[in-house]
Amino acid sequence: MSAISHHIPDHLIRAHAAGQLPHHFAVVVAAHLSMCDACRAQAEAEEMVGGALLDRLAPAALQDGARDRLLAALDSAPPPPPAPRRSGIFPAPVMQALDGQPPRWRMLGGGIRQQVLSADEDGSLRLLYIPPGRAVPEHGHNGLELTLVLQGAFSDSEGRFGVGDVELAEDDLDHQPVACPGAPCICLAATDAPLRFTAFLPRLLQPLFRI
Ligand SMILES: [Zn+2]
Repeated sequence: MSAISHHIPDHLIRAHAAGQLPHHFAVVVAAHLSMCDACRAQAEAEEMVGGALLDRLAPAALQDGARDRLLAALDSAPPPPPAPRRSGIFPAPVMQALDGQPPRWRMLGGGIRQQVLSADEDGSLRLLYIPPGRAVPEHGHNGLELTLVLQGAFSDSEGRFGVGDVELAEDDLDHQPVACPGAPCICLAATDAPLRFTAFLPRLLQPLFRI
């Protein structure tokens, strides 16, 4: 893995370790953790702190016999289905969001493609495919957008983002990511609110493509 230079911010790693991130963001963070030793080590440290706190609470919280019943229930439960594994450029958390299938791209125009992996009132999770030299329509954000590069690279006013890099865009950033020369740029992007497109046409198409 080439050097990753843009990481998950500390507060998001902490929220992820505590299980407090909305699903869409949790998938992006989990995918980055699977690619980044530094963030994974930090997440494991956070989980150990959380586990130590739980250990202190658990004896008081569990009633007599509850622990035995819980262990018995775990023993008799059917084994969970095997989790999807990494496939090509897609880390295991992305393969899980894809139900183990290859992406089913939809054309967005200009050679740009996307697949919406999930969308609800909390936001959306999608894969984007951007040919080299192409730009994602310029947009601002109503909330938070977290983008992880899986193949190729893009650049915008914040810098260059290659494989494994994460860009966190908050509502004060208007940016226009452009895919770098080379392989098409494939990204995983989570948002917690619909994007605000500045041009008329994309705004018209937005409900159609759920971006
Ligand atoms: Zn990292």
